[in-house]
Amino acid sequence: IGIDLGTTVSVAAAVDEMGRAHVLSDEDGESFIPSVVYFDGDEVIVGQEAKDYAGALPEQVVSFVKRYIGDPHWRFDYGGKSYRPEDVSGLILGRMKAIAERTLGKVTQAVITVPAYFLDAERQATIRAAELAGLEVLKIINEPTAAALSYGFLEDKQDRTFLVYDLGGGTFDITVMKCRAGSEFEMVTTAGNHQLGGFDWDTSVANHVAEKFLTAHGEDPRDDASGYADLMARAEKVKITLSQAGKARIVCQHAGKSLTVEITRDEFEQLTNHLLQLTEVELQSAMEEAKLSPEQVDMVLLVGGSSKMPMVHDMLKGKARELKMSRNPDQSVALGAAIEAARLASASAAGGGL
Ligand code: ADP
Ligand code: MG
Repeated sequence: IGIDLGTTVSVAAAVDEMGRAHVLSDEDGESFIPSVVYFDGDEVIVGQEAKDYAGALPEQVVSFVKRYIGDPHWRFDYGGKSYRPEDVSGLILGRMKAIAERTLGKVTQAVITVPAYFLDAERQATIRAAELAGLEVLKIINEPTAAALSYGFLEDKQDRTFLVYDLGGGTFDITVMKCRAGSEFEMVTTAGNHQLGGFDWDTSVANHVAEKFLTAHGEDPRDDASGYADLMARAEKVKITLSQAGKARIVCQHAGKSLTVEITRDEFEQLTNHLLQLTEVELQSAMEEAKLSPEQVDMVLLVGGSSKMPMVHDMLKGKARELKMSRNPDQSVALGAAIEAARLASASAAGGGL
């Protein structure tokens, strides 16, 4: 299988007998698994349920652990145990393995993706996490490479220079890549902002609503931790709705009072334009470092859940000769990892080695 072990969301995928890559889903049909772990006594829950508990039980919930992987000092202490980042990541990978095994039977090997900027320490810790989950790592590949694989760039035998614009939940990565006539990919340069992602868009919406609530009722919903967590969850839903619809409503409840706020897409884009601009600055500097003008860039590949926002597409127009987005940009990294896993597995079955 291929696993996109994300900062906020993880996805597992596999290639079927017809040679088609597809994502794997859990018992509820969900394939986007929040990379969040909840501890309760000896019980461990990974995914949406854990994310739902984050506001009410912050001492028992770990999020964003990928930011700490490879850091020898980071620990999460709970119930008399001390968890290293790879221990927590191992629990997430264990859940992805279990999801895969629902449809595939026993799974023992995986290709796992990491950000292009990860150094050896982060890569080794990711391998240890997989081993803790009972998975042998066939290969660690870079996320932008996996995304490019999912677009079939190795098959169509053309020289290309392209950008991978990956805006996820908590990180933004921009990578300039080349591929020559269907041979391997070459990474020209990579840049980004590892403290910028969809989460910041949610925060902008939550703050906007909280300010309106404060004006209307004289109380601030941000004063209450679990109320604020609930507001953030609603803000994320509104943001996702606004990728399709021109307006959406958000209900905020606090201290026995309630306020409904309508937000149009225009308002949302104004509220968050400064965040979008931060990605544009990174993109410009990556192009400058690679000494590329927009005419020399064949295409921009859109990757990551947050790249579904229409404001991202608008900003990217004119940055390359073509914009390319699959219907599910948040699946492409996992699909590419699955394609690589299938290729490596068949090479080793054919006795060609790796
Ligand atoms: P990761 O950061 O773990 O790689 P993803 O690429 O899956 O994760 O991105 C997750 C982010 O994408 C979250 O902030 C989520 O709210 C956002 N997202 C998912 N779908 C949409 C959508 N349709 N419109 C806007 N944002 C979305
Ligand atoms: Mg990602």
